[in-house]
Amino acid sequence: MGESRLRRLVAFLRRRPWLLVVAAGIVVVSVVAVFASRERTVTFTETEFMAALSSGAVEEVNISPNTRTVWGTGHDEEGAFTYRYRYLEAAEESLLAQLRVHAPDFRVQPPQSSAADIAATLVPLALLAFVAWFVVTRARSGGVAVSARATRPADVPDFGFERLGGLDEAIVEVSEVVDFLSDPERFERLGAKPPRGVLLEGPPGTGKTALARAAAAEAKVPFFAVSASEFVEMFVGVGAKRVRDLFERAAKAAPAVIFIDEIDAVGRRRGAAVGNGNEERESTLNQLLTEIDGFRSNRQPIVVMAATNRSDVLDPALLRRFTRHIHVGLPDRAGRQRILEIHLQNVKAAPGIDVASLAARTVGFSGSDLERLVNEAAVFAARTADSQVTDDHLEAAFDRIVLGLERRSAVPTERDRRIVAYHEAGHTICAYVQPDADRPHKVSVVPRGQAGGVTHFTPPEGSFMTRRRALASLRAMMGGRAAEEILLGDDITSGAAHDFASASQLAREMVTNYGMGSLGPIFIHDQAQPLAPETARRIEEDVARLLSEALEDARRIVTEHRDALERLVAALLEEETLDEERIAEVIGDAAA
Ligand code: ADP
Ligand code: MG
Ligand code: ZN
Repeated sequence: MGESRLRRLVAFLRRRPWLLVVAAGIVVVSVVAVFASRERTVTFTETEFMAALSSGAVEEVNISPNTRTVWGTGHDEEGAFTYRYRYLEAAEESLLAQLRVHAPDFRVQPPQSSAADIAATLVPLALLAFVAWFVVTRARSGGVAVSARATRPADVPDFGFERLGGLDEAIVEVSEVVDFLSDPERFERLGAKPPRGVLLEGPPGTGKTALARAAAAEAKVPFFAVSASEFVEMFVGVGAKRVRDLFERAAKAAPAVIFIDEIDAVGRRRGAAVGNGNEERESTLNQLLTEIDGFRSNRQPIVVMAATNRSDVLDPALLRRFTRHIHVGLPDRAGRQRILEIHLQNVKAAPGIDVASLAARTVGFSGSDLERLVNEAAVFAARTADSQVTDDHLEAAFDRIVLGLERRSAVPTERDRRIVAYHEAGHTICAYVQPDADRPHKVSVVPRGQAGGVTHFTPPEGSFMTRRRALASLRAMMGGRAAEEILLGDDITSGAAHDFASASQLAREMVTNYGMGSLGPIFIHDQAQPLAPETARRIEEDVARLLSEALEDARRIVTEHRDALERLVAALLEEETLDEERIAEVIGDAAA
C-alpha cells in the first residue's frame, strides 16, 4: 500500500467515522463470543470418548444418528468442557450399549450446534458481510451514502456580502452571478451570455468559500458545496459518480450554486502527474467537463463556482469552462479593518477598541487569520474571567498568532515593505508623469503570489502601439528598479526581474516586428529559424540600448519627482492600496 493510497484510506475513514465504530463493534462482539465459548471445547476420538464415558467425566449426552454425532458437556480435573465426537456407522451398536450402561438418560436429537458456536461464528460473519456489502456498494455505485446525502436538501446560506470585508472588487464581479441566478429569464430574453463558470483564485483563508456562499445567499438559491479532494477516492469510478450525482441534485434544485473547493485536486493538467490515482482523477475530471457542458446546453440556471490557489496547474479544458476568473487576494489595510469589525461583532467587545491600529499591524493576515485573532482574544478574555474583549486581549492574541503563523514568510518585514513600496511607487510615478504611458489605475503593496506588490495600468484610448507609447511603457517598467536605487544605492534587489522580462519582450517586438529598430522595416517571427549572426547581434544591441536608455530616463524621472515619489511611498506604507483617484491626489500637480 503506497503512501498516497494509505493517506487516501485515512482520509476515506476520516470522513466516515461510523465505519470505525462498526469495525470496533465487530471486534468487541467477536471477542465476547469467543470468551463466552471459552469453556473448553474438545473433539474426542473413539478411545478418548469411551474413556471419558467410563470414568464418569461425561455428564450430558446428546446423540444424532443422522449425522452420527455425539455431543454434550462434562467435567474433569481441568474443569467443565463441552465435547463432540463423531462415530463410524459400524461403531453405533457398541456405542449405544456403552451409553445404556454409563449414561442411560442420553437424548436422541436432530443435529445442532451450541449457542456459543452460533455467536462466535455467525454474528461477526454477518456483520462483516454487512460492512463489506456496504463499502462495496457505495464504492461501486455510490449507492447508500450518496443517496442518503441526496435526500439532504441544500440550504440557502444565511449571510450575504455584508459579512465580507476587503473584497469589494471581487463582489462587484460576483454580483453578475447573483443577477443571473435571481432572474435567469432576463438573461435569456436579452440573449446575454450568463456567467456559468466562475473561478475564484487566491491564497487560503481569503474568503473564497465565504464569497461563493454569500453569492448564493444574495440570490436566495441553494448552495451545493463539495471539496474536489472528496472526488478523488480509493475506488475507481466513485469520483465520476459523485460528480454526476452532485449535478443531478443541483439541477433538481435549480437555480443553484455549485461550489467546488480545491478544484486543483481533480483539475490538474491531464497527464501532468504521475503515480496511481491518476486514471481516477482523469475520469472524474472528464465527468466534470461533461456535466458543465451539459447544463450549459440545457440552459439550466446553475453556476459553478470553483476555488483554488493554483490556477496555474489547472487543465486548459477546465479553465475554458470557467469564463470568469476572479482574484481573491489578501486584504489591504482598510479591508483588514473591515474584517476585524465584522468579526468583533460576534464577540462581546469593549467600547473604544483601536481597530485601526490593529489593522495597520496585521500586514499579511488573511481574513481567516483575522477571524482567528478575534476568537483567540475572546478565549483570552474568557480565561481571565473578563467580561469584555479588550485591546489587551487582542494584543495577546496577535502575539500568539504571529508566533504561530505557519506561513511566517507571508508576513513581510518592515524593510521588505519599504523596498516594495519604493519599487511600485517608481512604476506609478514614471507612468503617471508621461502623457504617452498607460495610466496607473491601481497600485498596491499587498503581497500577491510571488510578487511583493503590483501596479495595474489602463491602456490609453485607441489600440495602436505607437513608438512614443512603447518608449513610455519601457520607462514605466524600468521605474521600479530606478526607485529601488534611490532607496538602496547599488544594493539593488532581484525584484525587477519580471519587469525586465516584460520590457525585453516589448523592446524585441519593437525591433523585430514593428520596424522601430535599426534593422528598419522587417518582421522576424518569434521562433524564427536561426538568424544570420549579424542580424542576431543587431537585434541584441538594439534591445539592450532601448532598455538601458529607458532605465536612464526612469532614473531622471524619479529623481526629478523625488518629493512625489516619497509621498507615494508613505501613502503606500500607510494605506497599502491606492486607486486612480488617490494616486492623483497624492502626486498632486507633479505631472509634467
Ligand atoms: P478560503 O475559502 O479562501 O480558504 P474561507 O472562505 O474558507 O476562505 O474563509 C474562512 C473563514 O474566514 C470565513 O468563514 C470567514 O469567517 C473568514 N474570512 C475569510 N475571509 C474573509 C473576509 N474577506 N471577510 C470576512 N471574513 C472572512
Ligand atoms: Mg475555503
Ligand atoms: Zn516591478
